[in-house]
Parts: sequence; C-alpha cells; structure tokens
Amino acid sequence: MATAFPDFWRLSPSIYRLEASKCKKCGKIMFPTRKICIECGSTDLEKVEVARKGKIVTYTISYIMPRGAETPAIYAVVEMEDGARLTGYLTECDPKEVKVDMPVEIVFRRISEEEGRVEYGYKFRPIR
Ligand code: ZN
Repeated sequence: MATAFPDFWRLSPSIYRLEASKCKKCGKIMFPTRKICIECGSTDLEKVEVARKGKIVTYTISYIMPRGAETPAIYAVVEMEDGARLTGYLTECDPKEVKVDMPVEIVFRRISEEEGRVEYGYKFRPIR
C-alpha cells in the first residue's frame, strides 16, 4: 500500500522504504514487520509503509557517542500518525528544545561513518 510519497522516496533504493506490518483484522501497525499481530494475535497481516510524521513519546540524550556521530545524540521513541512506534535519533534538534509530544518527521541522514564506510538510515527532525 504505497501512500503519496514525494519523488525522492519513490526513486530511492530499498533502504528508504520503512516497511511495517498492518493487521487486517484490528488495524494495528507494527514496525519493523512481524508475522503475528501483537494486539490480537492474527496472522493476517499486510505490508505498509509507515507514516512520515509523528510525535515524541519519550527520549534520552547521550553526550558520549562514537566518532563521526552527531553529539549530543537524542534518541527517541516516536509514535507515528498511523500508530506505528519507531525508535531513532533526532537530527537538527537542540537538546534544550526537545520535549514529549514534539512533532517530528522522518528524514534520511548519515547515521555513522567507520573506516570510510558510511551508513545511512532514518532520523527524526522537528517540524517547525
Ligand atoms: Zn490485530
């Protein structure tokens, strides 16, 4: 079930797809994908892409990070608009402004760099 993602998302390789499982029985959306619904136990699930916007449920701030990573790092649990819960780092966010219920959106960023190998993944950016 592809929602209306902008071209950037459609044209991107598979790492840009954030696949979740949606329960056809109760509608629960789970990320990452699962075989059994955690809500009702149904095995009738379909693959969906998670919503791009959500709000912070809880977070921690870490001031010591591996070399090459953004420091300080804010790691958050985010509830997306479709109810899926994702965890990940925030970006472009001052630790002083982060708070519970703050609206954020998914962006793709460099996660870490090790011996010249760069890893990309999603981060959350505050919606201003
Ligand atoms: Zn279910």
